[in-house]
Amino acid sequence: MEDCLFCKIVSGEIPSTKVYEDEKTLCFKDINPEAPVHVLVIPKKHISNINELSKDDEEIIGHIFGVIKKVTKELGISESGYRIVSNCNEDAGQTVPHVHFHILGGKKLQVPMG
Ligand code: 5GP
Ligand code: ZN
Repeated sequence: MEDCLFCKIVSGEIPSTKVYEDEKTLCFKDINPEAPVHVLVIPKKHISNINELSKDDEEIIGHIFGVIKKVTKELGISESGYRIVSNCNEDAGQTVPHVHFHILGGKKLQVPMG
């Protein structure tokens, strides 16, 4: 989608530090990390947020959790633990309208959220 920051990262128009890539997904380092490990996993397909998911998108969302499992292992945080966050719309503070899952880890994360 034109004018979408993460679509531009997918196309390579905007550079990113890639951690993992396959046909359907991209995982890259967050530019403003809030934990020692902070990466984002996105579908390559433009979907604005979770509200916009269709039945057909369920496969890609399931696939993304497989990617999360793989990437957290490779990043060495699967055993110590990590948090997955996906913000939807204004109250949650979504700033980029392209579905993304934050992976946060590498330290003891604060609880609770919100
Ligand atoms: P949100 O606030 O929408 O849940 O998350 C958007 C995330 O994208 C933020 O954590 C922000 O730091 C990250 N971000 C914003 N612009 C860029 C960018 O140009 N490159 C990368 N790698 N991350 C970005
Ligand atoms: Zn997009």
